[in-house]
Amino acid sequence: MKNLFIALEGIDGSGKSTQAKLLAEKLTEAGHNVYTTFEPTGGMIGSVLRNILKGTIKADHRTIAGLFLADRLDHLLNEDTGLVKKMKEGYTVITDRYYFSSYAYHGAHMDMDWVIAANKMCADILKPSLTLFIDISPTTAMHRINTNRASTELFENRKSLEAIREKYFEAFTKLKHDESIFITNGDRPAENVAEELWVKVSSVL
Ligand code: ADP
Repeated sequence: MKNLFIALEGIDGSGKSTQAKLLAEKLTEAGHNVYTTFEPTGGMIGSVLRNILKGTIKADHRTIAGLFLADRLDHLLNEDTGLVKKMKEGYTVITDRYYFSSYAYHGAHMDMDWVIAANKMCADILKPSLTLFIDISPTTAMHRINTNRASTELFENRKSLEAIREKYFEAFTKLKHDESIFITNGDRPAENVAEELWVKVSSVL
């Protein structure tokens, strides 16, 4: 059985972690050994990033972009938990965020082409079999974030999310010949979104 590398993308609150879980269940039922993961990672660089997003450490957006790249390389290359190793071991990997998050989130603050060039190394190491973008309106996203969480993070305001959503689409246009991207409407019950994603993922199995 072919193992896949699937990246889930979307603005904060779009339902990525919900869909990662549902997709993992379906792939497991279909006989895959599934490894689900996320960025920023739970590793050393990822924890610095979490503190920056929470606001306990301050950093310039260019510094943040560099740290995300370093965290992503560790995500791929870590000797124990790295995704290159997981793929070699035959796991189907689902990641909640990958390099399109950098294009969208950093691209809102600096030249997106630089961010893409900097992440080329990651694309050369491991390119997603599929990038699944869950599209929701920033208004819905803010509603979900405010309803479900006690505090908000760095990018979690409607204006930011609007800019980030637009940058995602800009990145998809730029890379449409290099990447396999599927866009779904996330403004529906989670089960409906999951079903559509499963139809798409099944088609590449
Ligand atoms: P993300 O990982 O993209 O930030 P989550 O999966 O954590 O998003 O979802 C954000 C919040 O919205 C959670 O409280 C989740 O239960 C809820 N949620 C997820 N998908 C949907 C959906 N399709 N409709 C309504 N609420 C949803």
